Amino acid sequence: SIPLSFFAGIGGASKKGILIKGSNYLETLSEVSEIVFDKTGTLTKGSFTVTAIHPQELKEEDLLHLAAHVERYSTHPIADSLRKAYPNEDDDCQVEDINEMAGHGITAKVNGHLAYVGNTKLMDHFSIPWKACDYVGTTLHVARDGRYQGHIVIADIIKQNAKAAIKALKAEGIEKTLILTGDNEEVAKDVADQLSVDGYYSQLLPQDKVSKLEEELQSLKGTKKRLAFVGDGINDAPVLTRADVGIAMGAMGSDAAIEAADVILMDDDPFKIALAIKISKKCLKIVK
Ligand code: ADP
Ligand code: MG
Repeated sequence: SIPLSFFAGIGGASKKGILIKGSNYLETLSEVSEIVFDKTGTLTKGSFTVTAIHPQELKEEDLLHLAAHVERYSTHPIADSLRKAYPNEDDDCQVEDINEMAGHGITAKVNGHLAYVGNTKLMDHFSIPWKACDYVGTTLHVARDGRYQGHIVIADIIKQNAKAAIKALKAEGIEKTLILTGDNEEVAKDVADQLSVDGYYSQLLPQDKVSKLEEELQSLKGTKKRLAFVGDGINDAPVLTRADVGIAMGAMGSDAAIEAADVILMDDDPFKIALAIKISKKCLKIVK
């Protein structure tokens, strides 16, 4: 039977916007010693603004519009941001043959021209030579009909509560924090430094995130220490499932992530992770 205090714990957490899918997760939460974070949409807002444009052949404006067109139907936070900045719903551009490649970017035919928007992995995949960029930011390389067209640098904003959240986790006894991201090294390092997160791995494909998580789980094996993963969803479902506790951002998160997660933060506030752990420890103390 489930001790009464577990119901109180789950009920109390839900009043704070923390949905815990079962009493077993309350127990696991109380044993968490390492927290692994996705970056975009989890520690950052997932809302990008353009900070620099370096075109090759097209005009700046045309480069931006081309990218926004390619992203017309994508649900990725990068696509959302570009569409908001450069709305193109009611122009008569034809966007077809869309191919979104996780951790790489996206390709689509725009008015019959095959266009590419993504990182250096995407460019390398299609053997398109790209130019390096010395700005810190997420760099969207753009190509059309196999020709490099330049890049757009975009920047995300760290969530207001993220720094306090990491601090609160340390105060709650969390021994290690880690970022896993598909974004580039410079951005990953910048976010980790700003938030005092212990470490990061960058340029990861979704399957690389699973392998890294498994390495971390392996290092805790045989101990009573548990690992939590926190993500917003795009491609995070496998990692959410693999972690001892999967925590998803509920407001921005994808349906797949909410399905795969054990704990859901309704308002996407990373500070609530420390609160969830605190509530779980309090409950377990009452039971023991
Ligand atoms: P994260 O790990 O930060 O959540 P993702 O795995 O979703 O990131 O994406 C990793 C990288 O792949 C992005 O930083 C971007 O360079 C590229 N990418 C993925 N999807 C898109 C897209 N729709 N448009 C452009 N670039 C994309
Ligand atoms: Mg993500």
